[in-house]
Amino acid sequence: MEMIPLEQITPGTQTTSVAKPGVLIDTKALETLAEPLGKSAKMRIRQIRQWILQRGILDFDRMTDLPAGFRAELTEKMVPLSSRIANRQVSSDETEKLLLRMADGKEIECVLMREENRRTACISTQVGCGMGCVFCASGMFGVSRNLQAGEILEQLVHVRTRLKPDERLSHIVVMGMGEPMANLQNLMAALEVACHPDGFGLSARHITISTVGLPERIRELADAGKKYHLAVSLHAPEENLRTHLMPTNAKTGIRNILEAADYFFDTTGRQVTFEYILLAGLNDGPMQAEQLGSLLSHRKSHVNLIPFNPVSGLEFRRPLPDSVREFRDILDNFGVSSTVRKRKGADISAACGQLRREALVENATQPLEQVSN
Ligand code: SAH
Repeated sequence: MEMIPLEQITPGTQTTSVAKPGVLIDTKALETLAEPLGKSAKMRIRQIRQWILQRGILDFDRMTDLPAGFRAELTEKMVPLSSRIANRQVSSDETEKLLLRMADGKEIECVLMREENRRTACISTQVGCGMGCVFCASGMFGVSRNLQAGEILEQLVHVRTRLKPDERLSHIVVMGMGEPMANLQNLMAALEVACHPDGFGLSARHITISTVGLPERIRELADAGKKYHLAVSLHAPEENLRTHLMPTNAKTGIRNILEAADYFFDTTGRQVTFEYILLAGLNDGPMQAEQLGSLLSHRKSHVNLIPFNPVSGLEFRRPLPDSVREFRDILDNFGVSSTVRKRKGADISAACGQLRREALVENATQPLEQVSN
């Protein structure tokens, strides 16, 4: 594992005051600044976005097709990105995890994963998470706020700065911190730009949104008419166990979630993936495999089994390889296809929320005045 000192990894003009608004975030401030340009204002704003999103240029002075006076004014009053990389970890499999600090000092995580030709950004939608799943590091401190659409987009810009010249961002998984469906409007606005030819030009089919399972929001996403892939974190085939692991289940219930997933499939034609974390001795037995098999056997779906990623402070254990094999065989007997998620970045703070958790725990041991700035 390689640790890079903060000052070496802060890109471009990011060292300027964080109090200045970011152009991807504060559209109003940018419009006001461009207003004196009259008829060309709109075009200039588009150019700025293209420089940042398409070419990854994070320095107004290098945006050479903008009038010099306007560039100077931009440099004085705004920043290309309002967030900056506060910490970075690189794993031996070339997975890179970024801890981003937002303008208000809040921290979130995003990850770049490399797998054959795929370059996948794993992005966050909230600071923290309010869902309270007992095995997850992101929810340990609750939710502090939703990310703005621009902050979600900035994660993609940061991830892209890590790509080598011959690499191209091809996929997004919304599996970072937070519950995407609890911030659906902002997420949709950001993904719209991710798919736009003037933005990142990604295919909607290469974007996966993972949810704890909020039925109303799943239906709303289905009705939006996009081709995003939906992954539902099921994690247990039976109500009591699911509520034990995922407290939000007390309100939703498994049946409602499955019905919403069916609606998503019927409306979009896209098969739903069910994620299933494997926690040794808790939900990885043959009985649960059979219950899961019978829940899903008549549904066109796929199961992604995720062996628990250890989180310090949590007592759960990873499943034994034999139980994983048996679990899969049973699903197979029910005609339910499954894959086991590969563990990326195993030698860095792998499970989502861990890098931030470490920073928070470290801060908690410092005097208060150090924490506040
Ligand atoms: N809020 C969304 C996104 C969460 S992260 C959701 O609930 O789907 C993506 C996946 O990682 C979810 O399935 C989540 O339950 C799972 N996950 C969280 N902590 C984990 C851990 N320690 N080990 C393995 N998977 C974990």
